[in-house]
Amino acid sequence: MLDETWFPTDKVMIDGKWLEVSDHLALEDPSTGQPIGQIARGGSAEIDAAVVAARNALDGDWGKLTATERGRILSKLGTLVLENVDQLAALEATDVGKPLTQARNDAVALARYMEFYGGAADKVMGQTIPYLDGYTVYTLREPHGVTGHIVPWNYPMQIIGRSVGAALAMGNACVLKPAEEACLTALAFADLAMQAGLPAGALNVVPGLGEEAGAALSSHPGVDHLSFTGSVSVGALVQAAAAPNIVPVTLELGGKSPQVVFEDADLDAALPFLVNAGIQNAGQTCSASSRILVQRGIYDAVRDRMAEAYGGLTVGPARADLRVGPLISARQKDIVNGFLSQAPDAAIARGVLSDEAAQTGHFVLPHLLDGLGPDHTLARNEIFGPVQVILPFDEEEEAVQIANNTDYGLVASVWSRDGGRQMRLAKRLRAGQVFVNNYGAGGGVELPFGGVGKSGHGREKGFEALYGFSQLKTVATFHG
Ligand code: NAD
Repeated sequence: MLDETWFPTDKVMIDGKWLEVSDHLALEDPSTGQPIGQIARGGSAEIDAAVVAARNALDGDWGKLTATERGRILSKLGTLVLENVDQLAALEATDVGKPLTQARNDAVALARYMEFYGGAADKVMGQTIPYLDGYTVYTLREPHGVTGHIVPWNYPMQIIGRSVGAALAMGNACVLKPAEEACLTALAFADLAMQAGLPAGALNVVPGLGEEAGAALSSHPGVDHLSFTGSVSVGALVQAAAAPNIVPVTLELGGKSPQVVFEDADLDAALPFLVNAGIQNAGQTCSASSRILVQRGIYDAVRDRMAEAYGGLTVGPARADLRVGPLISARQKDIVNGFLSQAPDAAIARGVLSDEAAQTGHFVLPHLLDGLGPDHTLARNEIFGPVQVILPFDEEEEAVQIANNTDYGLVASVWSRDGGRQMRLAKRLRAGQVFVNNYGAGGGVELPFGGVGKSGHGREKGFEALYGFSQLKTVATFHG
C-alpha cells in the first residue's frame, strides 16, 4: 500500500482547497500490479469549478501580483520541491514504477523548472518599433488567461514543471489534469504550491479519466490556452475539441527519434548514450532514441557492443532502483509485446529479469532488434517500451533518408567528428531538437523542446515557452 502522504491523495485541489468527489478510481503499483489506494475521478463539474476558480484568481490576488512577485513564489516553490525530493521520488516510484534514481532526477528537474521560470518571470520584455512620424509603438506580453494542462503518465513531474511553471511565470491561472495512472506527484506539487504562497485558484488540479475530465477541459469555453502532452490520437481529439473555442493548443506528442553514428565517431563516448536513450524510463519516453543508424564499416562493432550492454540491463521493481523498471500498466505491456510479436526473430540481445521482480508486475525485458529494414513497422512506429532497432547505412544521404523516414520529428542526434557533416545533418534532420555528439532525451530545462510532423507543434521549455504561454499586444500611440 501507499505510505502515508502529507496531502490527501483521493481529492481534487480547487481554489486552494482539497475537495471531496463522489467517485474514485483505483490506483495501482506497476511494480506489483497490486492496488495501492484510490484517486479522485473528477469530471465536468470539477473542471467547471476549477475554471471558475482560475478566472477568479486572475481577477483577484493572483492577477494583481507583479512579475517579480510571481517569480519569487515560483522560486520558493522550487526550494520546497528540493526539500521534498526524496518524498516526491518515492511517490513517483510507487505510482509510475520509475526506478528511484530516475524518479529523483525528475523531482530535481521539477525544482529546476521552478527556479528557471521563477528567475525568468520578470525578464520577458516587449519591443519598441520604429513607425510613422509622431508615433511611439511598443509591444506587451500578456497572459492568455486560464490555461489547461493535460499531462501523461511517463514524466509527470517534468511535464508539469515545464508547462505549469512557464504558464504561472507569465501570470496565467492553471487547470491541470494529470494522467489517471499517475496523479500523486501532481497533487503533492499543488500542496507545495500552496505552502509557497501561490494564491488560491492560480493552480487547480483535477485528476480523472481522459474521456471525462480531459475531454471537459479541452472543450471548455472558459479555457484560453491548452497545453497537451500525450499520444497523437488523443492530441488530435484535444485540438478538435478546442477548435470551436478558437484557442491556441500546444501539442507535445510522440517520437521515433534516431541517433546517427558515422565511422569517424568517438564510439566510447557514444555507446552509453546509444543505449541509455532507449531504455531510460523503460523506453516510455517521448524522446526515447528507438532507432540507432550505424555506418556500415562500424556496424558490427556497434551492434556487438550494444548487445553486450543489453546483457547487463537488469529489470526489476522501482524500489530496487535498477536500470529498468516496469511499464506503467498491463495495457502498455500488451502493446509492447504486440509490437515484439511482429518481429519474433529480430532480438539479438535482451536484458535480465531480477529475482525481485514480482510475476504480477508489468515487466518487459529490453530488446535490441537487428535485421529489420527501415520500412518495418517496428522501425517506423513508436513502441513506447524498452525496444531499440539498429539499422545500417552506407552514405550520409542514405542516413538522412532513413532518419527522416517516419511521421515523427522530435529529437535526433549525429555522432561524427566531421564539423561539416555535423552542420549538414543538424539542418537536414527533421526534428525539433538535434544533438551533436551527445543525446539528451528532451534536453535540459533551458532548451526549447517540441516536435515537427506528428510529434506536435509549439515549443515548451526554455525561454521560448514564455512566449507560448503569453500573447503579444501592440500599442501604437500618436502624440504628434
Ligand atoms: P494519452 O494520450 O493516452 O494520455 C495523455 C493525457 O491525455 C492523459 O492525461 C489522459 O487522461 C488524457 N486524455 C485521454 N483521452 C483524452 C480525451 N479524450 N480528451 C482529453 N484528454 C484525454 O498518452 P499516454 O499514453 O498517457 O502517454 C504516452 C504518449 O505521450 C506517447 O505517445 C508519448 O510519446 C507521448 N509523450 C510526449 C511527450 C512530449 O513532450 N512530446 C512527453 C511525454 C509523452
